[in-house]
Amino acid sequence: MSTEVEKTACLIIGSGPAGYTAAIYLSRANLKPVLYEGTAPGGQLTTTTDVENFPGYPNGVSGTAMMEDIKAQAERFGADIRHGMATRADLSQRPFKITIDDTHLIEADTLIIATGATARYLGLESEQRFRGQGVSACATCDGFFYRNRDVAVIGGGDTACEEAVYLAGICRKVYMIVRRNVLRASKTMQKRVMSNPNIEILWEHQPQEVVGDDNGVTGLRLRHKSGSETTIDIHGLFLAIGHHPNSELFKPAVATDEQGYIVTQGKTSHTNVPGVFAAGDVQDPAYKQAITAAASGCMAAIDAERFLSAPE
Ligand code: NDP
Repeated sequence: MSTEVEKTACLIIGSGPAGYTAAIYLSRANLKPVLYEGTAPGGQLTTTTDVENFPGYPNGVSGTAMMEDIKAQAERFGADIRHGMATRADLSQRPFKITIDDTHLIEADTLIIATGATARYLGLESEQRFRGQGVSACATCDGFFYRNRDVAVIGGGDTACEEAVYLAGICRKVYMIVRRNVLRASKTMQKRVMSNPNIEILWEHQPQEVVGDDNGVTGLRLRHKSGSETTIDIHGLFLAIGHHPNSELFKPAVATDEQGYIVTQGKTSHTNVPGVFAAGDVQDPAYKQAITAAASGCMAAIDAERFLSAPE
């Protein structure tokens, strides 16, 4: 640990649309924010395909390109955007003491938590064994490896549909494994899945075991609601069953709900700790959109700015 302690008026943890947007607002307010990007610079949008519903891009935009644009916009106004991961947070008094990569201590008058959410896994032992060897939670990252092969996507939400459609353009066949007899996804995404000849939905099936050998995944054993079991031959398995909020580091000082989402007060970004604000998916169990994350990053920046000029 270095002995030198760096100080900042506002520290932002997280680099999705929420964190970068907060950085745009704070840097334009001349508050010289420091932002740490975490392990996945750009956040979840960098693992998606085209974003078609963010206002201002009539022809759509790749998630990665959009995040690079928002980052460049923040840097243009002087935001100090760095690689690094917050590993400790002492929020017991102001200034808050945040440790980065276990080595660098920063004291921050205000803190914006924009750490997003992470993909959930089923919890099967065999799923863990084959992670990175056929089991993935990101079709855009790993779909390429299964060109002309058969794969399966678990889940029935918008993410699962999006991933299935994306994979159907690369792979020979895509099974969608859905635990109920309906999809949770929006009607538009349902239509895209249903009309794609490369996608077959296996309704009311639950994965039991990922089957494989030293070379990776070879199949998936499934159980139908009726109790009957079958094994499908696949080489890639993509999880799309939702996310959990990355709030662990800030608990219990920062209050969360039972799912771990940070609780913000009323229509603001204030948490229960004065001077600590939350933005984006880490505090949003309901909307989880790039545009709502960006909007909440803006709110957190404005709340932090007001707090700095009149701390309670
Ligand atoms: P969702 O929570 O919407 O869907 C999760 C899916 O996984 C559901 O079908 C759920 O089944 C299933 N599931 C959960 N746990 C298990 C399990 N243990 N075994 C089997 N299946 C399971 O998550 P998404 O990531 O799809 O979407 C999150 C949010 O982001 C949503 O609001 C969505 O609309 C939005 N989104 C929007 C996009 C866009 O607008 N372009 C793209 C992607 C996401 P069940 O339905 O039975 O609960």
